[in-house]
Amino acid sequence: MLAPMSDTLVVNEIYLSLQGESTFAGLPCIFIRLTACDLRCSYCDTAYAFTAGTRRSLAEIRREVRRLARPFAPPAARRALRARRPAAAERLPLVELTGGEPLLQKNSLPLLRALCDDHFTVLLETNGARDISPVDPRVRRIVDLKCPSSGEAARNRWENLACLRPTDQLKFVIASRQDYQWAKACIARRQLAARCPLLFSWAQPLAPAQRHPALKPVPPGHTPLSRRELAEAIIADALPVRFQIQLHKVIWAPAARGV
Ligand code: SF4
Repeated sequence: MLAPMSDTLVVNEIYLSLQGESTFAGLPCIFIRLTACDLRCSYCDTAYAFTAGTRRSLAEIRREVRRLARPFAPPAARRALRARRPAAAERLPLVELTGGEPLLQKNSLPLLRALCDDHFTVLLETNGARDISPVDPRVRRIVDLKCPSSGEAARNRWENLACLRPTDQLKFVIASRQDYQWAKACIARRQLAARCPLLFSWAQPLAPAQRHPALKPVPPGHTPLSRRELAEAIIADALPVRFQIQLHKVIWAPAARGV
């Protein structure tokens, strides 16, 4: 029987890989990539998820997540570990809902809740343009603040900052010197370091084949910043942020999918 539309999500891909862009970087993670995004960031490397996808029921998605998680420690072994070393007992793999923009689809909320009920550590990557307040409080929200070179800084939903918890993370994707200065000023002015971990993610320039024609142009006057320049600037300015690169692009080819 087909699932009613009310119980479905349009999914681009579900796969097991390593988490690459947060304080969880390096851990095994099941990614659920949803279709569609309401932004067109200049550096977007997942434009293939703007439209391509298949409608799948929430039950089907949960089943697929459980299937991919099966080779990892079973619940009984995890319970035993928790008794001995509580800090080590976080369930692996992690599960991350990403996109596209997951919060464009209303059934993301019940899916996130269900994955928490299944005792996964659940991450949500969101572009920062949508309201994050209805998300289950057990979810670790990784929220973008779009810097000017994205071409989408006007879409930042500043009200989200007041909703951030210490378990969330705020991510700045930095592609230019102007982005860096903007992010630095923003952190100081809004005292963001007191809210949650801050991520400075270096934007690896897109290969020409990855550049979707609908992406916004970089606004005039931006000077590209290398990853080394970004790292050195953070150190010189003593910023309370975590530098990161897109781990999967170091391990696999930059345009590889499903990794
Ligand atoms: S928010 Fe920007 S980078 Fe993320 S999927 Fe949408 S267009 Fe791409």
